[in-house]
Amino acid sequence: MQTPSFFNQGDLVAVLTTQPLDRLLDYKAPEGGCAIGAFVEVPLGPRKVIGVVWDAGRGDYDIAKIRSVIRVLDVAPMREEMQIFLKRAADYTLTPMAAMLRLATRAPGLGDPPSMRKVYRLGTAEPTRMTDARTRVLQVLRDYGGLAFTLKELADSADVTSSVVKGLVKLGAVSEQDCPRDVPYPRLDPNYGGKSLTPDQDAGAKQLRSAVVSQNYGTTLLRGVTGSGKTEVYLEAVAECLRQGRQALVLLPEIALTSEFLTRVEARFGARPAEWHSGVTMTERRRAWRMVGQGAADMVVGARSALFLPYQDLGLIVVDEEHDTSYKQEDGVLYNARDMAVLRASILGAQVILASATPSLESWVNAESGKYSKLELTSRFGDAVLPDMQAIDMRDEVIPADRWISSSLQKAVQARLDRNEQALLFINRRGYAPITLCRACGHQIGCDDCDARMVEHRFQKRLVCHQCGETKPMPSVCPSCDAEGRLAAVGPGVERLTEEAQALFPDARVATLSSDLYGSARALKAQIEAIADGAADVIIGTQLVAKGHNFQNLTLVGVIDADLGLQGSDLRAAERTFQLMRQVSGRAGRADKPGQALLQTYQPDHPVIRAILSGDEEDFWKAEAAEREQAGVPPFGRMAGIILSSPNVQEVFDFATEMARNDAPLRQINAQLFGPAPAPIARIRGRHRVRLLIKAEKTAPLQASVERWISQFRPPNSLRLSVDIDPQSF
Ligand code: ADP
Ligand code: ZN
Repeated sequence: MQTPSFFNQGDLVAVLTTQPLDRLLDYKAPEGGCAIGAFVEVPLGPRKVIGVVWDAGRGDYDIAKIRSVIRVLDVAPMREEMQIFLKRAADYTLTPMAAMLRLATRAPGLGDPPSMRKVYRLGTAEPTRMTDARTRVLQVLRDYGGLAFTLKELADSADVTSSVVKGLVKLGAVSEQDCPRDVPYPRLDPNYGGKSLTPDQDAGAKQLRSAVVSQNYGTTLLRGVTGSGKTEVYLEAVAECLRQGRQALVLLPEIALTSEFLTRVEARFGARPAEWHSGVTMTERRRAWRMVGQGAADMVVGARSALFLPYQDLGLIVVDEEHDTSYKQEDGVLYNARDMAVLRASILGAQVILASATPSLESWVNAESGKYSKLELTSRFGDAVLPDMQAIDMRDEVIPADRWISSSLQKAVQARLDRNEQALLFINRRGYAPITLCRACGHQIGCDDCDARMVEHRFQKRLVCHQCGETKPMPSVCPSCDAEGRLAAVGPGVERLTEEAQALFPDARVATLSSDLYGSARALKAQIEAIADGAADVIIGTQLVAKGHNFQNLTLVGVIDADLGLQGSDLRAAERTFQLMRQVSGRAGRADKPGQALLQTYQPDHPVIRAILSGDEEDFWKAEAAEREQAGVPPFGRMAGIILSSPNVQEVFDFATEMARNDAPLRQINAQLFGPAPAPIARIRGRHRVRLLIKAEKTAPLQASVERWISQFRPPNSLRLSVDIDPQSF
């Protein structure tokens, strides 16, 4: 029987709530009835909770005891497409539906009535007694003919205190009105501010536009070196989507990049889109969630969670820097936003654009196999050329202890300084030094709660755990042997490199760019802009600088330790190093000045380093793909991780061993089970973590078997179990 789309008062409805229950709850439809998908408030025990009318109720228990829906919330009902998306995403990630619904309702005050604020306009009465202050207020209101001001805006613009405005309200010369806070976003104009494209870009834009016009599902991998105009080209696809009257979403990997991007969107479309990420205020989040649902926001720019907004009609999702590891949510619901974007678009009949200079191996393979369309921009915009890439063989360099800038690199930086150009030194390590060691007893200071070293942050004069964020003051004596003044910093971090650069180039202005040196995204953005404007000659940066900032005068990138990412047993290490090195070196020489990238390495003959230097991407991907295929790992096989954690190390190992012993459902699909072994992060916030890793063939029904397998066990309360489908490291 088909599910009705509307329920009359008293009909039974099944409601999905955000409470951790593994079933839908039956209620009676309230007075006035309710639609399928309606957001409702329902009684649950003594409490009131929020839910969605998911289905017709089954009434398989005492009808007389079934309670009524309290009220229908004043927001657009959840669309069928969204219900399907949440269900499929839950099935894929093995996440309970309640947790999926929580992701989809992360708007504060969802059940509250529309929130209002007071606004002020010109009134009808003339005040009998005028003062200078009063005249100024009325003048401002007249100047902006009809525009509504908040109290603060009006008082500030007229340079008066708010009591002057209030006085005018009493006299009727200014009118005070209630106005909802959740106002529509300004329309974006697809024909505003378009650039004239190069023939290469124009062909790309045409391909994307016709994909958007089809209003069918499709994914395109948009490749192109940094500066080739990928953003320009995909903004043309956004424009076409807007012309079709559909909404567009652009996902960015890093909040710090948003404001630069919004400015660019405004220049292209004449207005700012809605913004959605953890840095957005509660009021604004509430507005965005509602307006997106009413179709009163044409475009959203945001972080991965923006995928779960209730779009009225989403036609295009762009995943910028699609290879970025931050698209994988590693807490709570473990999902990869890139894959979920493809899933949602396939349900909607929407287009996906995955943009990257260095795509993930997964996307590269999908494009090669024809599952995704390909689009490549081969040259940089304008006269900019790719940087010349060279290795500095560190085995040949004479370099004093506790120094990391070789004399070859020093000379190259000096040459830039002499020409008034900027140089960037890249080190992917935050803080002053990765290790704090006692020279008397050999003790290394570690975090009390995690399996991690404490990292000295000299600017803050503290030790910081990069895993849990715990900090403590730098001790003056060794916590292990009490020796005084024997604690030494070992190895380079971005802060220490700043010191070294300042000593080597005493006349240069040296600036550090590291996410933890700035209190807020705003402060960081200000620093980035200042650097772009020429406020620094030498920039010392972490991973943060790899992600799309434009420094027009930057002509040299020096990579301090190109080998750093190649250590460790992670099968993705090569891919990550390749991507990071290519991206970082892409920072050099954007405008009309040729750039150079110098990689300090002890292994210039390592295949990854050679691929980076030769720029032979296709060869690198082919070799990587062959290796993964050989090992039967993603994207050629399927994997899942089971992470078990507990404060008690014995308990967690015992439980994991028990699980590994009873793995019949996995053996039925010929899956291999590895572990138990310490998880990639073995201890965090006092919890010991153990991982079981499952590898199966590409076509195996992995989720179903894993679900059957874990449902055999009842973990004790102290133990947490989470499933990670497609783990990042394996
Ligand atoms: P990518 O996203 O590939 O790194 P962008 O789209 O950011 O490249 O382009 C790099 C720079 O070149 C930007 O400053 C952009 O505004 C400029 N640019 C690219 N294409 C054009 C064009 N056709 N006309 C004018 N400026 C362009
Ligand atoms: Zn810690």
